[in-house]
Amino acid sequence: MNGKITFVGAGPGAPDLITIRGAEALKHADLVVYAGSLVNEKLLDYARNAELVNSAKLSLDEVLALLCNGYRAGKSVVRLHTGDPAMYGAVSEQYRELDRQCIPYDVVPGVSSAFAAAAALKTEYTMPGLSMSVIMTRDAGRTPVPEKEALSSLAAHDCTMCIFLSAGNMRALIDKLRAAGRPEDTPVAVVYRASWENEKIVRGTLADIAGRVEEAGIKRQAMIVVGKVLNREQGGLSCLYDRNFAHGYRGAGSESFRGQCAVFAMTREGIAKALEIASGLAEADVFVPEKYATLVPVHRRVIYPDGRSKQAIAQAWKSYRGFVMVMAAGIVVRHIAPLCGSKTSDPAVVVCDERGDYAVSLLSGHLGGANRLASEVARITGGKAVVTTASDVRGMTAFDELASRFHYRVSNPGAILKVSSHLLENGRVEVRMPRVLYECFYADDARIVFAGESRDISVSIPETETVLRMEAPHCFVGIGCRKGTRSASLKAAVAEVLERSGILMDCVDGFASADLKKKEKGLLEFARETGKELRFFSEKELNAQKVEHPSEYAMKHLGIHSVSEAASLLAAGEGASLVTGKTVCGPVTVAVARQTKKTTP
Ligand code: SAH
Repeated sequence: MNGKITFVGAGPGAPDLITIRGAEALKHADLVVYAGSLVNEKLLDYARNAELVNSAKLSLDEVLALLCNGYRAGKSVVRLHTGDPAMYGAVSEQYRELDRQCIPYDVVPGVSSAFAAAAALKTEYTMPGLSMSVIMTRDAGRTPVPEKEALSSLAAHDCTMCIFLSAGNMRALIDKLRAAGRPEDTPVAVVYRASWENEKIVRGTLADIAGRVEEAGIKRQAMIVVGKVLNREQGGLSCLYDRNFAHGYRGAGSESFRGQCAVFAMTREGIAKALEIASGLAEADVFVPEKYATLVPVHRRVIYPDGRSKQAIAQAWKSYRGFVMVMAAGIVVRHIAPLCGSKTSDPAVVVCDERGDYAVSLLSGHLGGANRLASEVARITGGKAVVTTASDVRGMTAFDELASRFHYRVSNPGAILKVSSHLLENGRVEVRMPRVLYECFYADDARIVFAGESRDISVSIPETETVLRMEAPHCFVGIGCRKGTRSASLKAAVAEVLERSGILMDCVDGFASADLKKKEKGLLEFARETGKELRFFSEKELNAQKVEHPSEYAMKHLGIHSVSEAASLLAAGEGASLVTGKTVCGPVTVAVARQTKKTTP
């Protein structure tokens, strides 16, 4: 029987920087042929049962003979290369010969020294404003480099460079960088044997690095990193964490779907897509049939018996706010038909094809949020959201959609249909609502007339009795902050959390914090500016309140297990629930709680 050949990237040196797959290959190897001085021999300890051959002194033919003979003798052969085999690994001539002889092989990647050096330097090669590209190259030595890739021209790109195999002649190398126009103060770092016990880092600039490297006695086995990114402080901010940057995996403000989702898939490919979607949603579990259970990470896995998807959906129906079904729409329709109740109680259901090309909002588009869930799924997969509710098609945000986004409660759902059909026939309605909402959503729609500002929303059809009423939530914002936090920081933090939670400032009744913040100037000033109530609770009261995210830090330093969550819940009164749990914004923590519906006298 034939054996098996695996090329394995050994990583930069530290024995625990090999991949798990690479280490497994070593464990099962009968023969390991390893490449010279930059493969840490400690790695060979993984290969307990193997014959070990150092290839440093062997010719290509001799290496190939070892691999091929091993394969034909039925052995598991590992060819171990330093870093990642794809960088200066001289593997292509080995691949070529094996292909020619029709001998199969696998390749396991490794951590390249270029990245081990970045870790040692604690740098990021790509930083906005400094460099968005990396050139990995080498100086010409015994091995020639194509003319167009000469250092003296490549370096003219102002970007980050990782230069392999070139520490032997630093002075000549630096001259080439100068010739390319890099200024004297360009930062350069040289990392000798990154991740090894005897790792050494030398930092400097074009002007002085050569001397420093000589002084340190480094001549080989080093990575040369060139570029402004080595001056970390000069970098700009990445847009990735900017709250105005709608990243595929982050919803922006009240437009995102809120609540726990169940993602169902029944095929291998469908499950891969389901996992991609689940990890992009705020909270999601993935439901899988038993036979595919191992494909899903344990922390979000719900397993059901093979062939019982219908029952699994039925069981989950009441416990999840959203369902994303990666399967044919027909199956979904048949499975959920008996479960459908009403507009106000059904969860959102979105159907998505296995390729993620389309996310179809199937049930509870507005109130349940399926339209938003569909957009979110489409953003994650890079597909298209398919929304068929009429008011969305005409570019208007339906009133029940508005209610769902901003936590309003529709008092008389029966009026929704009357109002929307009236609008669809180009009838006019008069609305009362917070001015910001009107201006944001309806100001340029001639059918919708602003009849006055109010916290609750009413939409009436003139000359009829029909009035759609939607009640505003009543919220309290809990605030914790470091000593000396300024009112401007508090204002920004609260505004950000409210926006993200879909709570209007109009719906905030007041703020709450701990007694020990009673003299906190910034907090007092902030509350005064808003004109809203500010309440304080004692340590005892706060500690008696059950919360979602108790903080060990606060317990240790203040003797209180939670400030923002507990204070918001206490202020909002009995039966209150969190809209948004503790959110940290720099020196401020913010939580939002809403009251249960008050019975109006
Ligand atoms: N395939 C390897 C590179 C092999 S070429 C990789 O991906 O890292 C050998 C060159 O790589 C050395 O001359 C040196 O420039 C660099 N190198 C390899 N291991 C290194 C380490 N631990 N620290 C710094 N440079 C290293």
